[in-house]
Amino acid sequence: MRLDTLGVDESVSILFPPEILVEELAGLPVTTTVVNGSHGLDDCQAVVTFDYWDACDDLGWVHSIQSGVDQFPFDRMRAADVALTNSTGIHGDAIGETVAGYALAFSRRLHEHVANQGEATWSPPEWDDAWTVRGERACVVGLGTLGRGVVDRLTGLGVEITGVRRTPTPEPGVDEVYTPSELRDAVSNARFVVAAVPLTDDTRGLLDADVLAAMREDAYLINVARGAVVDQPALVSALEDGEIAGAALDVFETEPLPDSSPLWGMDEVIVSPHCAGFTHRYHKHVGSIVAENVERLQVGNDLINRVV
Ligand code: NAD
Repeated sequence: MRLDTLGVDESVSILFPPEILVEELAGLPVTTTVVNGSHGLDDCQAVVTFDYWDACDDLGWVHSIQSGVDQFPFDRMRAADVALTNSTGIHGDAIGETVAGYALAFSRRLHEHVANQGEATWSPPEWDDAWTVRGERACVVGLGTLGRGVVDRLTGLGVEITGVRRTPTPEPGVDEVYTPSELRDAVSNARFVVAAVPLTDDTRGLLDADVLAAMREDAYLINVARGAVVDQPALVSALEDGEIAGAALDVFETEPLPDSSPLWGMDEVIVSPHCAGFTHRYHKHVGSIVAENVERLQVGNDLINRVV
């Protein structure tokens, strides 16, 4: 495809101002400009975006600023001959640190202190409430960029790791590897179960009532993948019935999480607003993928991170 003008859509504002990505890409041999939906898109052959809308069918290339591209219309893009690339590969540090933070909050009871502080209440935990993560086990479901970042951070804290991947090949830092069909066994001896898979037909509802029932009663579920990877009503029941100890949830079936959700009011649940991957350098990480692909287009090479 010929690329003269690359748009950066306003929808990227969910993660960073579009202007700073335009600035980041200023050295590229193409014009880069902020567009707002269809406004300004006529001059563009490609767009960097969070959203997809009808006029994108007329482009040659769409780059998603996210890793997960489950909301993009793959079939329609194929039919319209629109290439889709994603931003996988950039979230390992941020997500790894967020997951380590959730784990330490639960073990060191930090979420309780923050809640007590809001009520100006001096309330030390019971003598046996606090624990340390060293020697505990985490089951990491999905060993891609997110999974790798989580493994690196948790092993640094002395946590032992069980991994779940489709092909049970060894992975550094992971001492047991299971396949998704063995998920109940994989989670059964873990203190933390971390969902780090893309949302696909195979992973929708992967962490269902049976998997939650197979978890230890003192285990915590951490979901940094997509809400629908977990059966949310089954999770609420498991938490209400004490089948598991708690959960840290960054992603939900419906976002923003509705006011009516019982998850908001649970003491052992940490709710974060789909921000586990946020960092002030996000635009730079996206920019390096986009720049590499612009250079590839110039010389007729295949795009990296291509999904469609
Ligand atoms: P990735 O492509 O680097 O890794 C995904 C891994 O999951 C791959 O290794 C793949 O083989 C594996 N996988 C796929 N299906 C599987 C299955 N059924 N069982 C076990 N493993 C399976 O992607 P990533 O960058 O690690 O991101 C993973 C997902 O996390 C994204 O698709 C996105 O939905 C989500 N995500 C969320 C945030 C956030 O802010 N919370 C940020 C980035 C990514």
